[in-house]
Amino acid sequence: MSDRLDRVAALLRDRSLDAVIVSNPSNRRYLSGFTADDHAADESSGVLIVATGARLILSGATNLPWAKAEAPGFEPIAWERPWPTFVGELINDRGWRSVGFEDGTTTVADYNTLVEALTSTTLMPLGDAIDALRAVKSDDELQRIADVIGMTDDAFTRGVERLKTGITERELADHIGHVLRNLGSDGEAFPTIVASGPNAAKPHHAPGERAIKAGDPVIIDMGARLDGYNGDLTRTVWVGEIEPRLAQIYDVVFEAQQAALATVRAGITGAAVDQSVRDVCERHNLGEYILHGVGHGLGLRVHEAPSAGPKAETALVAGQVLTIEPGLYVEGWGGVRIEDVVVIEQDGCRNLTGATKNRT
Ligand code: ZN
Ligand code: ZN
Repeated sequence: MSDRLDRVAALLRDRSLDAVIVSNPSNRRYLSGFTADDHAADESSGVLIVATGARLILSGATNLPWAKAEAPGFEPIAWERPWPTFVGELINDRGWRSVGFEDGTTTVADYNTLVEALTSTTLMPLGDAIDALRAVKSDDELQRIADVIGMTDDAFTRGVERLKTGITERELADHIGHVLRNLGSDGEAFPTIVASGPNAAKPHHAPGERAIKAGDPVIIDMGARLDGYNGDLTRTVWVGEIEPRLAQIYDVVFEAQQAALATVRAGITGAAVDQSVRDVCERHNLGEYILHGVGHGLGLRVHEAPSAGPKAETALVAGQVLTIEPGLYVEGWGGVRIEDVVVIEQDGCRNLTGATKNRT
């Protein structure tokens, strides 16, 4: 944790801040080790305050023993509700004048209460500055991510054996959930998507009662979770012989993914990776069926920095983890998405995903 806190110290210096309040659960965990999630946006399990010479973890009496056990580097303090009033008064007592806060995850109500409690402190929005600290992974994190991706691959391979005509999306998704748990996953990274036939035209679809038919495109998007780290894998499969239209679209998405995998490396922008996908799809006159950017970062959250969409103008950095998941979606017919997870390297990338995607 100490190099992570060094980076927070550098942030304090760069922005001339006396302290930062860390409320985002993933960032809280990343910096302290405290694994609790928040039950809801307005129900915080705790906040960190990092200042020069102070590392505090504040939480309610029920969560504090847990926080104490997992975050030994932080001084535990039991708060009284409402927590923003308590934190505001603590900041007054310590005399911190310029304090950063996570505007992306602080509710307006909490912000207002905090401002009311402060006597002579200016709150500075941090934007995604703390999230950005998580984007480049350590070797230990890369190993954990490789493990969770390996488990996800395994669960897909076993789960998809249950695919047959007549099984409903819901049944297949539930089965994959069971396989994940049997393999030792801490639940699912996100609710498994099984989208068949016309439902596959929706990038995000809640599996329902639709029974899968021969020839349907079936998009399966799933992930294991281990030690807080998430897997993310998409494959498009079918029962029986592949239909000509599915074959055509599948091959284009496959080619687009190959292009992106060949393009991605440190120093180029996410937008350039995204463009490599668009180029392939447009060459095949299918560009209009793209509905989302090619990928997103992955780690303690399923979607995190960096991003790889048309507006991602920041250069990628070695050690970042990115999904490469081009998709084409044709309303009324269905869709195809193929998703792998790569580690950005100086001269290319390392693909962590091993689940088969060859259609023959
Ligand atoms: Zn996915
Ligand atoms: Zn994804």
